[in-house]
Amino acid sequence: MQSPSHLQRNPIGRNMAGELIVFRERIQPVSDPMPNEWRPQRAATPPVVAMPGWATALRRGLAMRCPACGEASAFAGYLTVQPVCPHCDAPLGRVPCDDAPPYITLLIALHFIIITMVLADYDGGMNWITSMLIFVPLTIVLLLAMLRPIKGALLAIMLKINMLRPLPPSAKPAAIVHG
Ligand SMILES: [Zn+2]
Repeated sequence: MQSPSHLQRNPIGRNMAGELIVFRERIQPVSDPMPNEWRPQRAATPPVVAMPGWATALRRGLAMRCPACGEASAFAGYLTVQPVCPHCDAPLGRVPCDDAPPYITLLIALHFIIITMVLADYDGGMNWITSMLIFVPLTIVLLLAMLRPIKGALLAIMLKINMLRPLPPSAKPAAIVHG
């Protein structure tokens, strides 16, 4: 005779009277309070930095100043951004510019160079050495001159749309204490 414990281990078995029975899987109530539907947070987050209008912010960025106040340089080196603005404490170092400034610089500068090359040598008569001597330095100078203002403008755009890296975990308690 099969024991009840043996029957419970099998989905199909026989009862004491020999009838075929099917054990149904018991459905345990789910204790995990998972929401049925995930809703993204649509409420506008308050801006971290008080910013001027788009035109002023972009002008300050292109001039490589702090986009929020315009009083201090946004850069601590050629491309190194100040961690915070020394004048208004705008967290410039938390703006995630990453690869965008060189990408946009190359996009604009190389289109300009290619068009200039085609227009300058439209009859194909230019010596390749002359071409190299003109366009290689022109490309380098143009890229180096455009990189900083474009990075400044991107700082302004990202600050204006409140796109900042989250504070590191070590900085959070201090921010709460002072906040
Ligand atoms: Zn500032």
